[in-house]
Amino acid sequence: MTQQIWFITGSQHLYGPETLKQVAANAETISRALNADASIPVEIVFKPIVTTPDEIRVACTAASGDTNCIGLITWMHTFSPAKMWINGLSNLTKPICHLHTQFNRDIPWDTIDMDFMNLNQSAHGGREYGHILTRMRIQRKVVVGHWEDPAVRTQLADWSAVALGWHEMQHLKVVRFGDNMRFVSVTDGDKVEAERVFGMSVNTHGVGDLVAVINEASDAQIDALCEVYAEEYELAKGAARHDSLREAARIEIGLRRFLEEGGYGAYTNTFEDLHGMEQLPGLPTQRLMAEGYGFGAEGDWKHAALVRVLKVMSQGKSGGTSFMEDYTYHFDPAGARCLGSHMLEICPSIAASKPRCEIHELGIGGKADPVRLVFNGAEGQAINASLVDLGNRFRFLVNEVESVAIEQDMPKLPVARVLWDAKPDLQTAAEAWIQAGGAHHTAFSFDVSANQIEMLSEMAGVECVFIDEKTEMRAFKQELRLGEMYHGIRGL
Ligand code: MN
Repeated sequence: MTQQIWFITGSQHLYGPETLKQVAANAETISRALNADASIPVEIVFKPIVTTPDEIRVACTAASGDTNCIGLITWMHTFSPAKMWINGLSNLTKPICHLHTQFNRDIPWDTIDMDFMNLNQSAHGGREYGHILTRMRIQRKVVVGHWEDPAVRTQLADWSAVALGWHEMQHLKVVRFGDNMRFVSVTDGDKVEAERVFGMSVNTHGVGDLVAVINEASDAQIDALCEVYAEEYELAKGAARHDSLREAARIEIGLRRFLEEGGYGAYTNTFEDLHGMEQLPGLPTQRLMAEGYGFGAEGDWKHAALVRVLKVMSQGKSGGTSFMEDYTYHFDPAGARCLGSHMLEICPSIAASKPRCEIHELGIGGKADPVRLVFNGAEGQAINASLVDLGNRFRFLVNEVESVAIEQDMPKLPVARVLWDAKPDLQTAAEAWIQAGGAHHTAFSFDVSANQIEMLSEMAGVECVFIDEKTEMRAFKQELRLGEMYHGIRGL
């Protein structure tokens, strides 16, 4: 069943039945137009207008209990006294987008009369409604403008995509093969609290459970998958006949089966815990990420989840999203850059061109040479997003970056890589990121915007900190201090 966003319009009985009939007709016209808009990635469902406290409570309770409903777009066509909304909103568990629009774009200067004024009261009806949401401390998105305006449609499309991601996060199952990399802090955290706040469950399986499934892969399955590798990638010399390639195929077959059978949307592993596995999964993890799975290395379950959620939020878009690590700096006075990469596991959805499949020794872990895809990242505006556990709460952190062309060949670097210019500049961005306690791992995305991470954080009720063109350190540090206070008071 398609996931739905319900379009709910508020009014009241002050104006007589004719006006309410017109309100309902206009609301249906708008919701149908939004549903027909291909940029909005969910079904928009028109619901009967609500005009009394009971109708509002019934609509909100129904939305909360409906498994297909992932959010509400609410619109106050007329005035809808907001005390009527208290009971309903108290029972609502789905995110809200308040569309502050008006059916008529323009004021009909020559014909406007009091009937028109009474029918088109969003300007004050929306404020009354917004007041009660603010008073009830309900976070929501407010979109202002005419419903046919492309800028309004874009905001609704972005918000709908985030609602899909939030729905995914609340139902996500993350499996960890092995524990966290020993002694590492930021990849660890409170999995119980993560389930309470985000809904996602994070549980472990011994690597042996996975190895048992990997070992069930048949030779015929492995042969077939090796053929797919040869078709989809440029195989490096000798790779096609290399035992490591067959081993990578065996791991991929087992890993995919394990994830499918367990209903997992994301996973972690660690090179420190690979008992019974011949090599650290490189190519298999790259391919599974490209299919939409979330992944976090070294036991990093928070970024495994975040990669998955961002992939859901970016469905239908053309670019890509990957697990990422800030790896190495280029401190050129003409413009500092960061080279992003990982030992192996960068998603080919962000590649600039057809990846090359190579087999090389891994410097750590003491296992057989793993197979990996090697490529340069595409160019364009992107974000690095992080989710960290600060002990008393979670924090999202986002840095806007520009992925730039990689001019050099780097013939001795056998991993996928991306080169970016961070906003406002690398020095400020890194200083701010470090002050904010951001992870060395991130979810890197061409498709998801910083605004969308903000919407996600608001749906989750979690802090979000931004590093962008306007970031200035003194104000940024003050923002962090204020966040300590605000989120401390809220108890999140
Ligand atoms: Mn790492």
